[in-house]
Amino acid sequence: MIVTMERLATEEQIQAVVANVAETQNGTELIRGVERTVIGVVGDHINEDLRSRLQAMPGVEAVVRITRSYKLGSREFHPTDTVVNVKGVKIGGGNPPVVMAGPCSIESEEQLMSTAIAVKAGGAQILRGGAFKPRTTPYSFRGLKEEGLKLLRAAGDETGMPVVTELMSEKDVELVAGYTDIIQIGTRNAQNFMLLDAVGEIDTPVLLKRGFSNSYDDWLNAAEYILAGGNRNVILCERGIRTFESYTRNTLDIAAVPVIHRLSHLPVITDPSHGTGRWHLVLPMSVASIAAGADGLLIEVHPNPDHAMSDGPQSVTFENFARLMDGVRNVTSVGASNRVPLRAQPIAV
Ligand code: PEP
Ligand code: MN
Repeated sequence: MIVTMERLATEEQIQAVVANVAETQNGTELIRGVERTVIGVVGDHINEDLRSRLQAMPGVEAVVRITRSYKLGSREFHPTDTVVNVKGVKIGGGNPPVVMAGPCSIESEEQLMSTAIAVKAGGAQILRGGAFKPRTTPYSFRGLKEEGLKLLRAAGDETGMPVVTELMSEKDVELVAGYTDIIQIGTRNAQNFMLLDAVGEIDTPVLLKRGFSNSYDDWLNAAEYILAGGNRNVILCERGIRTFESYTRNTLDIAAVPVIHRLSHLPVITDPSHGTGRWHLVLPMSVASIAAGADGLLIEVHPNPDHAMSDGPQSVTFENFARLMDGVRNVTSVGASNRVPLRAQPIAV
């Protein structure tokens, strides 16, 4: 439920609404805008009685029930964009797109360091690399685990880039959070609710990939688990969904970018590497994503994709990464102008 206060509402009136809600065992979140304050009410005890009681309080302009199943992540609840700040790198809210790049898997110090230097030179701001790898078959390379995390941290520190890596299990939350600046939740764990709860309890930013068969609603509800736990630093990542098309590994749903911007205040980036499965599609899909207003990209880069231990066919070389970044720069202003403008009132979709 959203309580919109009058423009001239006093602090006392705002606090009276908060106290009234507290008596009902629901929670509140204050969003202080330039013009007025909006109070979001969340909890299991929201009903018509509460709505009409709040509506009658001094200083209250309107009280509206949120119709969507997710609340904290909805734009109705939080009209202004969330900006996730990762060691000074700002993601979302119309900031220039942030490119996170690096190998699918961390394989060795040399492989990772050479990639980190190349992507940094190309303009990437965040280094990616997998240490715990979810693989379709257990006989494939499954990552260097803690050894990989150490290499990632060192390469990030050496090149001055924050790092992102995947967490696969609740038992490793502390371990992974101890090395990384952003925790990635992969497509296969996108609805692992215990894992989502676990990352909701810490404050490390979370990059939540879309489950490959998740609707927007499923995806935003998955994000809601993290937000409801108290962690408000969530970045959504469209990484392709399963469709009947078999030429590509997945179908990158670029419409997800403007749809999520309309439904939610959370930043949304795309992953054209997993979204297509083919290196030669990564550049055009990156450019298309940025033109559609994406807040960033996640790109797999490898010094020698033919010898990569995972996802070689979708990894770009250093040279092609530099070309991709040129393409991204060419459309950045297009993306900025295509970003869905904020609306002053709830949006019907
Ligand atoms: C990855 O980023 O390497 C990865 C495994 O991603 P996804 O969960 O999207 O398949
Ligand atoms: Mn990969």
